Amino acid sequence: MILAIGKHCNNITELKFSDGNFEEKHALAMTKYTPKLKILSIRHIIMSWKALLCVLNFLEDLEKVNICNSLILETAYPLTFVEMSELKDLLPTSSMEKLIYCETGTCLRCMNGRDIIRSRNGPYEDIWGEDEIASLAHLP
Ligand SMILES: [Zn+2]
Repeated sequence: MILAIGKHCNNITELKFSDGNFEEKHALAMTKYTPKLKILSIRHIIMSWKALLCVLNFLEDLEKVNICNSLILETAYPLTFVEMSELKDLLPTSSMEKLIYCETGTCLRCMNGRDIIRSRNGPYEDIWGEDEIASLAHLP
């Protein structure tokens, strides 16, 4: 998919993942095929820590990354997670300035789990756009 985007959308600067996982292979593909990306939303999904580091370190034009309500998986075996509250101890200020995140467990969406179906009539759909980057805050 990212290869196709890179091939057909030469100047893409904004990208949003709204389904599935965000894995290292996606991040690596983005460094190759969408190197000019400025805005990325990987909100409300499960992502790998390495994938997040990869986009923060190698997409040089990146300005904003929305990771609200996401789970950051540090290792698969054994399963460990990076808490949002740990980010500031793990990342340099230059990376932290790009991140948009919520404190896990304190926001409405995190408290209600990640299984909420995001349909037009789904719970919280009316407030769903509130923690999204404005240009990406549309319904699926
Ligand atoms: Zn949240």
